Amino acid sequence: MVHSSPAGRTKTLSILGSTGSIGVQTLDVVRDHPDLTRINWLTTNRRIEDLERQALEFSPKGVVIADQQSAETFRANTRFKGRILSGHAALEEAAADADNDLLMSALVGFSGVRPTMAAMNAGVDIALANKETLVSAGEPMMRAAATNGINIYPVDSEHSALAQCMVGESSTAIERLILTASGGPFRRHSLQELQHATCAQALKHPNWSMGSKITIDSATLMNKGFEVIEARWLFDVDAARIDVLVHPQSIIHSMVQYVDGSVKAQLGLPDMKLPILYALVAPERVATNFERMNLADIATLTFEAPDYERFPCLRLAFDALAAGGTATAIVNAANEIAVAAFLQEKIAFMDIPRLVDAALNKIVNIADPSLDDIFAVDAETRTFVSSNIQA
Ligand code: NAD
Ligand code: MG
Repeated sequence: MVHSSPAGRTKTLSILGSTGSIGVQTLDVVRDHPDLTRINWLTTNRRIEDLERQALEFSPKGVVIADQQSAETFRANTRFKGRILSGHAALEEAAADADNDLLMSALVGFSGVRPTMAAMNAGVDIALANKETLVSAGEPMMRAAATNGINIYPVDSEHSALAQCMVGESSTAIERLILTASGGPFRRHSLQELQHATCAQALKHPNWSMGSKITIDSATLMNKGFEVIEARWLFDVDAARIDVLVHPQSIIHSMVQYVDGSVKAQLGLPDMKLPILYALVAPERVATNFERMNLADIATLTFEAPDYERFPCLRLAFDALAAGGTATAIVNAANEIAVAAFLQEKIAFMDIPRLVDAALNKIVNIADPSLDDIFAVDAETRTFVSSNIQA
C-alpha cells in the first residue's frame, strides 16, 4: 500500500547499518511510504549481497562498506553506479553529508558513536536505534544535540512510547517514567538454570526478532538497563525517577506517570516498524496497514517486578548510572566483549554480569569525561575484559 507524506515534504534519509534488523525494517517502511523519504546513503559492515540488493532498489547517492575486504569484493562485482566508500571514516562522511535531513543510527554498540556525533555536529537530526551510543557517551552527545539544535527521535519502542505519551505535556509535570520489559526468554529460569543457559536458548526471544547482540542483552536484562540510561539522557529524568516493570506480553511499550498521579501508556503489537515510522514523521502520524491490536483476543496483560538477583546486569546498569562519569561506558564496553564471547560459546551466561562487575571494579572512573576520555576508557575496558576471557 502506498501512503503519502503528512506535511508533503520528503526527508532525505541515510541509514547507518541498513543491512541489520532495524536497517531492513526501516527500508520496509520507506518502501511502503515512498513520499516520506529519499534515501541518500546506505551502509553495511560485511553484508555486501544485501547491500547490493538495497542499492539497486533504492538508488542512494552512495554506499559505505565499513570492512575493507568486503568493500573490495563489492567493488569488483557490483552493478551499482553510485559512490562506493569504505572504512570507518567513510561512515562519518555519509552520516554528516550536508544533504541529510535525518540519519537512522542503527549500528550496533560503540561503533556508532563517531558517525552519530559527526551527523549531530553537521546539524543532521537523528533517529536513534543505537542506544549504546547514549550509554557510553550520553553527556557529550546530548551536549552536541543541544549545541547544534538537532532533534533526536527515539526508535527504541519504549522510548518511542514515552515520547508519544509526552506529546502535549510539560516536562515539569513528569513524575516517573515506567519502562516495560518482556523479561526475555529466561524470565522463569532459576539462578541455577541460568548458570547453564545456552546461546541457542538465549537467542530465542519470546516477542521480538532482533540482531544477535541485543537479543543476548534482552536475555540478561542488560538491554533494559541500557534503556534506563538511554531514557535518562533522552528525557533528562534522573534514575531515581525511572522504574522497570516486567510485562511479558509486550503490548504496553512504556508509561509516563504525571505529578497528579495520572499515568499515560502507549500500546501496540510488538512490531518495530511502528516506532521506526513514528521516528520518521514525529510528531505527526501517517496511515498504515500494520496489523491492528485486538485486546479482547489478548485478554490479559500482566506485570511483575524485575528480579535483580537473577538478572544482575540490570542492577549493574543502575549502579553505573548512579556512579556517573565513565562508569556506563565501562559497562557498555565490558558487556560488548562479554556478549561477543558468549555468542562464540567461550564463556557462560552468568559470566557476562561477572565480567562487567569486574571491569567496573578495575577500571578507574573519570568524572565529567571528554569524548577522548570515553574512547580511552572504552579501549582500556575492552583490553581488560578480553584478557580475563583468555585467562
Ligand atoms: P544488527 O546486528 O541486526 O545490525 C547491525 C548493522 O550494523 C548491520 O547493518 C551491520 O552491517 C552494521 N554493523 C555492525 N557492526 C558494525 C561495525 N563495527 N561497523 C560498521 N557497521 C557495523 O543489529 P540491530 O538489531 O539492527 O540493532 C541495531 C541497534 O538498534 C542496536 O544498538 C540495538 O540495540 C538497537 N535496537 C534494535 C532493535 C531491534 O528490534 N533489532 C530494537 C531496539 C533497539
Ligand atoms: Mg527496547
